[in-house]
Amino acid sequence: MTNSPTFTIIAPVYNEARCLDELYQRVKATMDAVAEPWELILVDDGSTDASTEMIRALAQQDHRVRPVIFARNFSHQIAVTAGLDYSRGKAVIIIDADLQDPPEVIPDLIEKWRQGYHVVYAVRAEREGETWFKTFTASFFYRLVYRITDVKIPLDTGDFRLVDRKVVDILNSMRERHRFLRGMSSWVGFRQVGVPYKRAARFAGETKYPFRKMLQLALNAITGFSYFPLQLATYIGFASAGISILLIPVVAIMRLTGSQEAFFGQASTLIAVLFLGGVQLISLGILGEYVGRLYDEAKGRPLYTVSEDPSDYDENLPQE
Ligand code: UDP
Ligand code: MG
Repeated sequence: MTNSPTFTIIAPVYNEARCLDELYQRVKATMDAVAEPWELILVDDGSTDASTEMIRALAQQDHRVRPVIFARNFSHQIAVTAGLDYSRGKAVIIIDADLQDPPEVIPDLIEKWRQGYHVVYAVRAEREGETWFKTFTASFFYRLVYRITDVKIPLDTGDFRLVDRKVVDILNSMRERHRFLRGMSSWVGFRQVGVPYKRAARFAGETKYPFRKMLQLALNAITGFSYFPLQLATYIGFASAGISILLIPVVAIMRLTGSQEAFFGQASTLIAVLFLGGVQLISLGILGEYVGRLYDEAKGRPLYTVSEDPSDYDENLPQE
């Protein structure tokens, strides 16, 4: 095996055929200017377009491109995890394949790393070309997660970041399957710093994050880093028990003074029953989210399955 590169760039790819050439060119231009050995790991997350073929072709033409081809679609967070597993660099940079995270920002991240920071995350100072719905839900999501989780995950940061080898090794030892990498990389500690950048519009194609996937990610973030939703049932339980105790004397007095008609009717009983029934079902559902995740962990399946990995491309290496 050749010597380890200084930098690894990881890009998860799911049907990004129209972005790949541009991505490779811009990463190459940026990293060649940094003038230290680098590798680009392209993780194909079960693409159904020409992406897989293009990744293979890039690997043939440049041995610094190292493909990891999944046997099916697993999810963005899992694809990045696979990239981290296969990375060899002393510092690892995670970017999106759609060029929303401009590769030209990487030297700024490297600069901070050289100053001794272990995690350098890029903070979205501005967003370009996204629907108000996406901007609004993203902003709401970041603030909700910030409030209710126990780790302080910086606001408005995505997965675009540089991570030192020390932290990468720790992340690689955390094998939880419902992953929220931003949270995990805050959780580890170490010296962390943010660098502002302007998030560009998608280079081509459409978002691969429909609302359903965003919701799943949000649930993973919340269940992964907080018990607050579980405690919610306790709080609501105490509150409704407290209110009913307070209502006993009120009802007694109303009954004695003969003005109970305002209170007792089928409708009010029905509302109370439905309300509590609803609260109980929601609490059960929340419990279910945690139990389901527990069950997934207990099964202990591998996080992903790989049909081609970088070692399949080793014959492309220049003979020394
Ligand atoms: N992605 C992936 N697997 C998926 C969905 C997305 O690997 O199941 C990749 C995608 O190719 C892109 C990155 O994750 O490189 C971010 O996805 P996208 O740009 O669609 O999300 P958005 O920027 O709209 O939040
Ligand atoms: Mg994107």
